[in-house]
Amino acid sequence: MKKNGKKIVINGIRVDKSVFRKAALRPCDPDCIADCCSGGVWMTDDEPPRIMKWAKAIKRHLPKDRHDETQWFVTRKSKDTPSGIETGTNTVEDPAREDETCCIFLRSDRKCALQAVSRDRKLGWPGIKPFYCSIYPLYLENDVFSIDETTELDEETALCLHGADEKRPMFEIYRDEAILILGKKGYAELKRLADETKGTPSKLKKAAKTPAAGKPAAKDTKPTGKKVAARKAAPKNVAAKAAPAKQADKAAKKKTPAGKAPAKRK
Ligand code: SF4
Ligand code: SF4
Repeated sequence: MKKNGKKIVINGIRVDKSVFRKAALRPCDPDCIADCCSGGVWMTDDEPPRIMKWAKAIKRHLPKDRHDETQWFVTRKSKDTPSGIETGTNTVEDPAREDETCCIFLRSDRKCALQAVSRDRKLGWPGIKPFYCSIYPLYLENDVFSIDETTELDEETALCLHGADEKRPMFEIYRDEAILILGKKGYAELKRLADETKGTPSKLKKAAKTPAAGKPAAKDTKPTGKKVAARKAAPKNVAAKAAPAKQADKAAKKKTPAGKAPAKRK
């Protein structure tokens, strides 16, 4: 880790203080209905073609009315991607929740079809699951590692919001997600720093000035697509089933940092 001005930088990624914030939250719960998948996700340029390579396998996890792959993605203009276009997963009416949408890749058992294919075909982690889904609710934009505070979750259905007995730093609650961003060595450096300073912001900065902490951490894992924009997308219309107007209203109210769509997850 090194000090860059007053910033904490690990593996070239600036760690926002929100990452050290303590909260009584739970990690992602496999029994959740995946409320965070309600709006789909914006992806990095390399992800849609990677997903399409597995189209046949993906269809086995989806109902027939979602087999038309021309309906899988939507695009919009973007200044943040090399191509000038940003691609997101499409959304459909959620069969399990009235007046709600869900990502087109969310199966009826509330599991991600892309994650299931990645597991079945041993594609590693996160495989073809979009990067921004895999790190949620952590967030990475313009090489700044922070917490996604824009994707709206329903407090009743999102199990990660149901609280935990004790407060812990966000990066610890979402350890696996943080490792995806920083790599294992980068995560160890983050943990060491937080332990040394007990997560106090002023002490964190001081620790960043010490010779030991000033030594740049070795890069062991490169986050994919970290230079590309945000993630959980606003609901988008599917030709077969347009999202209800109520949902469009809800989407329009979502906060979007710097004009970008908020991201999303698992
Ligand atoms: S991140 Fe939260 S809302 Fe999303 S699947 Fe996990 S527990 Fe549910
Ligand atoms: S994890 Fe991402 S790709 Fe998978 S269903 Fe949810 S929003 Fe869609």
